Amino acid sequence: MPFSDFIGNAETVRRLREMLARGHFPHAAILSGARGAGKYTLALMLARAMNCLKRPTAHATKDEEGMGSFVFDIAAAADEPLTDALPDFCGHCSNCTRIALAGDLEARLAEAVEARDNLRETDKKETRIFVQTHPDILVIPPDPPQMMIKVDQVRHVIHSIYYRPAEARESVYIFTSSAFMKEAANSLLKVLEEPPEFATIFLLTENPGELLPTIRSRAMIFTLGALAVAEMESQLAKLRPNWNPRQRSLVARLSEGAIGRALSFDLEGYIAARAHALAVLKSALGAADHSELFKVTESYRPGAEGREKIESLLRTIYLLLEDVMFLQSGAGQLVRNTDIQAEVKKMSESADFAWVQRAAQGLGEVERGLRRNLLRSLSLDAFAAALEPGA
Ligand SMILES: [Zn+2]
Repeated sequence: MPFSDFIGNAETVRRLREMLARGHFPHAAILSGARGAGKYTLALMLARAMNCLKRPTAHATKDEEGMGSFVFDIAAAADEPLTDALPDFCGHCSNCTRIALAGDLEARLAEAVEARDNLRETDKKETRIFVQTHPDILVIPPDPPQMMIKVDQVRHVIHSIYYRPAEARESVYIFTSSAFMKEAANSLLKVLEEPPEFATIFLLTENPGELLPTIRSRAMIFTLGALAVAEMESQLAKLRPNWNPRQRSLVARLSEGAIGRALSFDLEGYIAARAHALAVLKSALGAADHSELFKVTESYRPGAEGREKIESLLRTIYLLLEDVMFLQSGAGQLVRNTDIQAEVKKMSESADFAWVQRAAQGLGEVERGLRRNLLRSLSLDAFAAALEPGA
């Protein structure tokens, strides 16, 4: 999967590859972007481009043959159009393939956590979670259950980072989150003050402000911005042809410009939650009778699964309320539930601004009740009842 497969943010990707080409890649790079923007995908692509044994450019022409490291028989390896002359990776060599194994981060993390769970109690405490599918490429995720990067993880990085890579040209360390414990952040800072020549550190974050200013100032920040709705829609037309145009348009709007979120979007789950959200709101608007609401709320049961289900219901209600507000304030182009626009419009006409405000406040109360573990169905019923006309 060469760089031409990376979706969106072409300018940022080009800048990074130009730095690679000039041999001026920063020792520490912060990749900033929303969840699902492609930070991890991009970091692994760069790790492969740094270490690909064939090191192709996207078009090694005949003229360049014999000029050294960037020669590669493109025609034999890829059907991609030849678009630029920047460093790329082949995807087939032993470095590329091993690094690519880290791509399914969720699966690799689950394996690492399971391996730790199987250790003896005493070893368990001292074992930190890492993902390593290549001897010189280390992925450092937040360590469960606290889901923070811990000082022992950074110490492990310090122990290995000053050794020359064994099989790579450049060793690569990818911190997948900026949730550092304080001591861990301070230790990382020490590495950044004296980085070795042959290592690159990637810090992935949704918000660079979470990193210590002293860390930020020693790294270069690259931002993966949100994709436009039209771009998301055209990508989804290619990558999710089984969704119809209305569904693609809906997912594009709900994913807030993050293509990874769009591609992993649980459309069926969303539509089911939204049907329930509509039933709750209609009942609250006095537009449906109560049996409908009770049918819905009865299906929400205590327990972990029920909790997840009700949280997605609440998020969906918020989204619908926001759409109602967009319509009421004349910003209809911002509506996300475009596939049921007529229904949303009807709600926006029967609810006034004060009602929407009360509904949002009521939802806040339901959420607080959830945290105190009040019976779920009860608080949902109460929420709808309190909003009914004349209540
Ligand atoms: Zn390769």
